[in-house]
Formats: sequence, structure tokens, C-alpha cells
Amino acid sequence: MIIAGPCAIETKEQFLKTVHSIYDKVDVIRAGLWKGRTSPKNYPGAGEKGLPWIQGVQKKYNIPVAIEVGTTRHIELALKHEIRIFWIGARTTVNPFAVQEIADCLKGVDVELWIKNPIISDIKLWSGAIERFQNIKIQNIKAIHRGFYCGNELTYRNQPKWGLLKEFKNMHPEIPIVCDPSHIAGNKIYILEIIQQAYANGISKFMIEVHNSPQQALSDRNQQISPNEFKNLLQYL
Ligand code: PEP
Ligand code: MN
Repeated sequence: MIIAGPCAIETKEQFLKTVHSIYDKVDVIRAGLWKGRTSPKNYPGAGEKGLPWIQGVQKKYNIPVAIEVGTTRHIELALKHEIRIFWIGARTTVNPFAVQEIADCLKGVDVELWIKNPIISDIKLWSGAIERFQNIKIQNIKAIHRGFYCGNELTYRNQPKWGLLKEFKNMHPEIPIVCDPSHIAGNKIYILEIIQQAYANGISKFMIEVHNSPQQALSDRNQQISPNEFKNLLQYL
């Protein structure tokens, strides 16, 4: 399974160009519409105005688009625009109040949900978030492994901690794991080696950040790859 798309939706043109160059190579497009940035000075995503662009893409290419949601308002707006795959970001998974509020809002709604691991390496917090969605009977849940922030960026921006992931898998053998090598790496030069490590750890689902012009990206510039680099990566794999 391959999920790919820009870190953030920035403009209609950037989003449509990126989608057009990758839609035939992926199962799901990813696109951050609302970005829960660490600093308010950082780019927050196109927000509400991007919803019709997503709706248009889903119709035109007959492909689902997944977005990050962090509040119940995000969910209400997204559902009105026929978006049916959501992910919970690493900065939201750490907050049980936020996760429970989102779960309450999704009760009885037919959606697919992906839960990123929390930024810190507390797999019980990750597991607890998943349980909150299992409790409301969401059928289609996946866990996204995006690495753990350990206070210092060594080679990678976030540490994969494969041993910890194995413990998590033992806690939740029923939940498929998707690896997000882009956010583990923090730099595109490490994406391939992280994918290879993930394969060695039994993972074959990936979420990869692709931007039509990574050098101009407004977020996660160093780790996004161009459609051409993405094509080469898939060919190599
Ligand atoms: C993202 O997917 O663009 C993102 C911000 O990821 P994370 O929540 O894993 O930091
Ligand atoms: Mn990103």
C-alpha cells in the first residue's frame, strides 16, 4: 500500500499538480489541510478553502484523499466535503482529551482512521488513542509509525525505535502498520534506507511526502521528494 502527497496543501495549483503526477501510482493521496505546527509562525496549511479542491480531486481521479484532523470542526467540515479517511497527527495523539472528543464526533460515522504514534516514545499513549476509536467501533483503523522525538536530532529527525514498534505490534496484532519514512527521516536522503529497515521489520505499507516542487515547499521542505524522485523510488522498490 502506498500513500503519498504533499505535507501541506498550499495552493490549488500546487495540490493539483502534485496529485496529477502521482495519482496513478498510489492507493491514497495524503494532504495536510490543517497543520498542527509547533510554532504559530510556521505555515498552517490552506485550511477550509482547500476542501473543494480535495473533493474535486477525489471525483476527477476516483482516488481517496486522506487528511489530518485535530478538532471536531475539521471533521464536520471534511465530512461535508466527502472526505472519508482521516489521520490523527503525532501532536494530537498525545492528548487524550482531544482524542476522545474526536472519537465522540466520529461515533456511528463510516470512516477510515489512521493514528500516528505520539511524538514521544510512549506506546501506551498510542495504544490508548487506538482503544478510544476501537471503543466507538471504527472498523478500519491503521497505525502510522512516524518515529519518536528523543530531544536530539541525530541522523534522523525522529528515531524509528524498531524494538519499541515490535512491542506495539504485540499489543495490537489486529492493527495494520504504515511506515512514514518522511517524518522519521526529516531529510529525503534517508527515506530509502528507512523503507528498507521497515521491510526488514515486516512493514509493507508506506506514507511518503511528495511535493511538485519540494524546494519551494512551505513545510517539511528537506524531506519532501519530487514526483520524479517518487517514481524512481517506486521503481527501485
Ligand atoms: C504530517 O503528516 O505532515 C505531520 C505533521 O506528521 P506528524 O503528525 O507525524 O508530525
Ligand atoms: Mn509533514
